[in-house]
Amino acid sequence: MYERYFDNAATTPLDPRVLQEMLPYLGEAFGNANSLHSFGRRAAAAVDLARQRVASLIHAEDPSQIIFTSGATEANNWVLRSVKTCQISPFEHSSVYEAARLLGYKTLQNDGLTLSPPASTIDLVSVMAVNNEVGASWVTPDLRGEAVALHSDLTQAVGKLPVSLEGIDYASFSAHKYYGPKGVGALYSASSPPQPLIVGGEQEGGYRGGTLNVPAIVGMGAAAAIAEDEMPNDILHASQLRGIVLEELGDFPEMRVLGGDHCSPYILSISFHGLEGETLVIELDRKGFAISSGAACSSRSTEPSHVLQAMGLSADWAKGTVRVSFGRHNSQQSSRDLAAELRQAAQNLLKMA
Ligand code: PMP
Repeated sequence: MYERYFDNAATTPLDPRVLQEMLPYLGEAFGNANSLHSFGRRAAAAVDLARQRVASLIHAEDPSQIIFTSGATEANNWVLRSVKTCQISPFEHSSVYEAARLLGYKTLQNDGLTLSPPASTIDLVSVMAVNNEVGASWVTPDLRGEAVALHSDLTQAVGKLPVSLEGIDYASFSAHKYYGPKGVGALYSASSPPQPLIVGGEQEGGYRGGTLNVPAIVGMGAAAAIAEDEMPNDILHASQLRGIVLEELGDFPEMRVLGGDHCSPYILSISFHGLEGETLVIELDRKGFAISSGAACSSRSTEPSHVLQAMGLSADWAKGTVRVSFGRHNSQQSSRDLAAELRQAAQNLLKMA
């Protein structure tokens, strides 16, 4: 049904099995999870199960290390805004770097995709697991350096790839990147959570005020359980499709594959020299294919992306970048068709250039 939707890094469709689990909590099981009566207890039990499922997905030691938020943006803001000094990688999502900007942040030194840990004493270092624009991940063993705490934005990894929490103090992620609902996510804290960002309620142990969004939390848990089961297949499937698109486009002149050697199998970022990524996206949309010209949150901006700049890409390469991101609904045939349409569109545009 969504075979031609290749923008799974922006969001994924809600899994119908997840919707089934959510529906009672949008209906008769409407209780407030903090109420003492049976309606409340039913909701609270569903939230407990979701917390266990999410903890299991990321291999957290204890479900109490998970606090539900409205998404990764909130979780990132929460951590970043709880400290006074921080350094971040130059590849972070805007919800990390805009929050860090309020602190007068510094970026970690990088040589292309290789990062150097902070050399001076600071409160926090933040480095994402998988970059949302190009799919790159980092294998530098000790990114904490002289920082007191290490935060990692795991949004493009959780539910898609195995994650390791080793050495990580805080981690953020969102349900809608792995076939759960939008508007719900979580912060993992190895020991105690940061001081609350949202005050005014005793929910989540007093760490995050506001009536719990029970149906969404149930959905996040259900999607986590499915992801845990299906991850080996999902990874294999995405890797095969990525391979197909790469093979079909491999000999295209003046084309570069971004993301380096340690790239997520779910993301294929390619630059066509001298072309406009947005034009390719529109051409592909006319053929019924959804791809992106960068991160969804910045794809309406005409500025070259800060990620591509930090990777050292010159403007005439950066502006010709498109992101193809794979998911469960794409097929080998639709991936071949996408590659053929992309090739055709790029050839046509090059002739006109
Ligand atoms: N971090 C990364 C790496 C992301 O890809 C996204 C979503 N584009 C976010 C954070 C923010 O997630 P949300 O919009 O669900 O809060």
